[in-house]
Amino acid sequence: MTNDLLARIAATVGPSGLVPDEPGIAPYLIEQSGLFHGRALAVVRPASTTEVAAVVALCAEAGVAIIPQGGNTGLCGGASPDESGRQILLNLSRHNRIRALDPVNYTMTVDSGVVLQTVQEKADDADCLFPLTFGAEGSAQIGGVISTNAGGAGVLHYGNTRDLVMGLEVVMPDGRIWDGLRVLRKNNTGYDLRHLFIGAEGTLGIVTGAVLKLFPKPRDVATAFVALPGLDAALTLLSRARAAPGDQVTTFELVPRIGLEFAARHARGASDPFDASHDWYALIELSTARGDGTLRDSLESLLESALEEGLVADAAIATSVDQARALWRIREGIPEAQKCEGGSIKHDVSVPTSSIPAFIRRASRAVAEAMPGIRPVPFGHVGDGNIHFNLSQPVGADKEAYLREWGRMNRIVHDIVVEMNGSISAEHGIGKLKRAEMAHYKEPLELELMRRIKDAFDPRGLMNPGKVL
Ligand SMILES: Cc1cc2nc3c(=O)[nH]c(=O)nc-3n(C[C@H](O)[C@H](O)[C@H](O)COP(=O)(O)OP(=O)(O)OC[C@H]3O[C@@H](n4cnc5c(N)ncnc54)[C@H](O)[C@@H]3O)c2cc1C
Repeated sequence: MTNDLLARIAATVGPSGLVPDEPGIAPYLIEQSGLFHGRALAVVRPASTTEVAAVVALCAEAGVAIIPQGGNTGLCGGASPDESGRQILLNLSRHNRIRALDPVNYTMTVDSGVVLQTVQEKADDADCLFPLTFGAEGSAQIGGVISTNAGGAGVLHYGNTRDLVMGLEVVMPDGRIWDGLRVLRKNNTGYDLRHLFIGAEGTLGIVTGAVLKLFPKPRDVATAFVALPGLDAALTLLSRARAAPGDQVTTFELVPRIGLEFAARHARGASDPFDASHDWYALIELSTARGDGTLRDSLESLLESALEEGLVADAAIATSVDQARALWRIREGIPEAQKCEGGSIKHDVSVPTSSIPAFIRRASRAVAEAMPGIRPVPFGHVGDGNIHFNLSQPVGADKEAYLREWGRMNRIVHDIVVEMNGSISAEHGIGKLKRAEMAHYKEPLELELMRRIKDAFDPRGLMNPGKVL
């Protein structure tokens, strides 16, 4: 039966669309986090929606489960098969055409295998902006971005992926194609199905196409790295910056001293812009479609008055694109630098923005009491309430032994997050990594409704089984 299925899939997708042998399959099973290893019956790489639909229909007929995979950057095990070797890994990277770009409508219609960075570049070529941006943008694909409702550094101003998707095309678990590729900003015709697939992590169907929202391209960008007198000052400064004329704050990222030290030590191109050491920093970026070149002046006067009021201890404002990139390197270098500091137990959580200082203080105290010497590195998109509450191992600790504490640390941190009305998963999704945690914290009614939706769309449980629910 297996050979028959593979032969029929091969006939559908052609030789370059099927990777049946172990050495060819191996790279698709490697996940950056190193936490998940599975086996696959085959890796299938369809190049069109019709091919995806045909493969899904064949698998449905044979009762074989499908694991969709984009750029495999999700880090939650969502795109990894299980150990059975009986699941098909459906990689979308060959399904990668830009279908249409309409600069008047400010929309781009793409296949789901298009890499995020390519979307950004195509938008830029058309004098537009696709504002979704994050560290893995050179590999993450639109299908994966949609399926994890990715966020990143621009959420404060432009919203999450959910806010940037106008229409979707999805192959359903039985192989039928739902054409929801609407290019409409207004459509009130009952349930908005698109939102069920956004963030579904491939458990309801395969996203094959999307209509994305574009924006006017910023003509002026101003970037500053700011030393703060304390954690609370971050929020006051954020409110002050947002209340300034035009609400031009597109990024507001928090960086702790330890994060800056890690980046300066290990991340190429990252260095401390100040002579003195400070406990907290913020990376601020303003942007506007106005092209009169006055944005840097606005940022300067904002920071000057903040300095006078004691909201800012020091500031470095970029005077060139290269300088702005160097400031960004500090923030973006933290995750890679953390790897050089041993084991890191990660919590990608959110709380109401106004609760961020209280959350960081409380959670840092709690984990330090539970494990003396642990090194909290809370950084991230503070402007939208999202903190990467990553915990580096104590200096000199055994990495493997430390990582075995993952569950215990999760419980401590997530209890605090939930008590503070936050979410245990602000980005990346649930996958396999946070499935038990989600089940532990979600209201029974909410879980029941989610299961009913899953059953309605995928009654045989063939779409990415073992993920999310
Ligand atoms: C360095 C780094 C920085 C990151 N920064 C951020 C950040 O700031 N914000 C953020 O939100 N995330 C971030 N991420 C996480 C990750 O990049 C995003 O979740 C991304 O959207 C995943 O896209 P992908 O194509 O790699 O998806 P994959 O990892 O391949 O898949 C993710 C999930 O989506 C499903 N899926 C993939 N394609 C499809 C499809 N076509 N149809 C249906 N289901 C599908 C998979 O089965 C899986 O469950 C970061 C990751 C890294 C490595």
